[in-house]
Amino acid sequence: MQPYTLKREKRRSILIQVTEAGVEVRAPLRSTLAQIEALLTQKQAWILRRRAQLAAVFSEIPLVTYDPGGLVPVMGRSLALRLDKAGRVAVRIEGEEMVVVGPKLGPDRVRAHLKAWYIVQAEAIFEDRVALYLPQIGRPYRDIQIKTLKRRWGSCTLKGELTFNWTLMMAPLWVLDYVVIHELCHLKVMNHSVSFWREVGKISPEYKKAVQWLKHYGPALKLP
Ligand SMILES: [Zn+2]
Repeated sequence: MQPYTLKREKRRSILIQVTEAGVEVRAPLRSTLAQIEALLTQKQAWILRRRAQLAAVFSEIPLVTYDPGGLVPVMGRSLALRLDKAGRVAVRIEGEEMVVVGPKLGPDRVRAHLKAWYIVQAEAIFEDRVALYLPQIGRPYRDIQIKTLKRRWGSCTLKGELTFNWTLMMAPLWVLDYVVIHELCHLKVMNHSVSFWREVGKISPEYKKAVQWLKHYGPALKLP
C-alpha cells in the first residue's frame, strides 16, 4: 500500500486525495483503520494512475522553487528565475528570464513578489480579454475581481460580478480565454445546461480542449 497521511474530521465518508505531495486520507472521526486501509487497497490502481499522471504534469510544468534558475510559468512560457538583490523591489520579464529585484530575497519574499506581480498582470489581462469577447455576448457586466480561488478558475454572479483566479496567468492564453468566455456566457445562461455549452461553443469552438487542459494541468497552476 502507498504511504498516506490521515486526517480525522467531521465528515460522512472516507475521502482519498492524491496530490503531488502524496496520498491524503480524510476520514470520519469514527472510521476504523481497517476500513480506511480496505478502501486504499480497493483504490490502489486509481491511486497509482493518478500519481503517475501528476508526476507527468509536474515534469512539464514544474512547481516554482524560488531558487535562481527555477522555472516560472507565465502564459504558457517557462521563464528562468533571476534574483537581483541590488535595487528597489520590482518584478519584470527580460527575454526568457523572470527577474525579481529587491532586498533579502528569501523564498517567502520571492513568492510574495511573484504573486503580487501575477495579480497586477491578471488585472490588466482579464480586463482586456473580457473587453475582447464581450461584444459577442451582448450583455453588460458589473466588475472584474482577481482573487485566489481554491477550487475554481472563475465565477460570475447574477449581478454580473466576474471573478477570476490569478493562477490562470500560469496557463497558456487560449486556456485563460476559455475561462473568460465561460464566465461571460454565464451573463446569458446562469447554469451549465446544454444551451450554456452551446453559447460557449459559439465563441470558443475548441473549448473542450481547454476544459481538458485545465483538468490535466490545473494542479500545477500554483505557487507552492
Ligand atoms: Zn460555470
